[in-house]
Amino acid sequence: MDKILFVPNPLLRQKANKIKKVTNNEILIAKKMRDIMNKAPGVGLAANQIGILKEIVTVSFVDQNTKNQIEYSLFNPNIISYSKEKVVMEEGCLSLPNQFAEIERSEKITLEYLDEKNSLVKKQANGIEARILQHEIDHLSGKLFVDYLSSLKRNIIIKKVQKFLKNKK
Ligand SMILES: [Zn+2]
Repeated sequence: MDKILFVPNPLLRQKANKIKKVTNNEILIAKKMRDIMNKAPGVGLAANQIGILKEIVTVSFVDQNTKNQIEYSLFNPNIISYSKEKVVMEEGCLSLPNQFAEIERSEKITLEYLDEKNSLVKKQANGIEARILQHEIDHLSGKLFVDYLSSLKRNIIIKKVQKFLKNKK
């Protein structure tokens, strides 16, 4: 569980399981995920991406207003509402290295999750944070950003990933 999985690894297509309670074990997994995410480096990681089918997401990004680095872990994250307003932004994914595509998503979301103290947090996110959270929470249900593209474009990108990984070896 210390390597990032790449497409077409089937674990990326599986649904992660809800956590009953956030215990030391989940906190350790999140800590490991944060290390892997920051080393990559990436702005977010879902547990599926390291082969763990638990609903855990970690994020790390620069806040657009304060310019502060924000990093936190989410357990059982669930988006409860999406703004009608959509924005198109270029996205990439650590599981599809070196590939990017413009994806339309909601500008603002409201979500709930458990924090490391097992407390339920309800929050709103917008901008880059909303973008990252939507991308990562998709991973927990086996969904990848390329699923928003036509199957033709998706297959081209997945083939390019294979080529990229092969050349890297
Ligand atoms: Zn991703």
